[in-house]
Amino acid sequence: MDRQTLFTKIAAREIPADIVYEDDRFLAFRDIAPQAPTHVLVIPKKPIESLETLDDADAKLVGELFVVVRDLARQLGLGNGYRVVVNCGEEGGQTVDHLHFHLLGGKPLKWPPG
Ligand code: IMP
Repeated sequence: MDRQTLFTKIAAREIPADIVYEDDRFLAFRDIAPQAPTHVLVIPKKPIESLETLDDADAKLVGELFVVVRDLARQLGLGNGYRVVVNCGEEGGQTVDHLHFHLLGGKPLKWPPG
């Protein structure tokens, strides 16, 4: 059986979320603690633990994930720019062990992050 995480439970509708996009392989939903006016998490439904443990065989899936993020950014009106973040591991600030891209925008974003 696949490993269960908060995000697999959201995908299975066991935990409610504000879902903004779904297809057979990807899901996007609003972050519960938004760090920008628009803050969406985009995940593959496949339970990949992190960027660190990503298989080479999943490279195409991750490329397609970027295309989903691009299209979502357009749909969400982020034409002035946005940021895509992947936190990886403890020091990278990863708190949910299911690969996810943060899509942040809707205001001028500062650099560098903490
Ligand atoms: P990470 O810190 O990069 O692993 O990101 C995990 C994100 O999940 C954080 O930004 C959290 O605010 C977010 N989060 C935690 N629980 C939920 C939830 O139930 N729904 C939506 N987002 C969540």
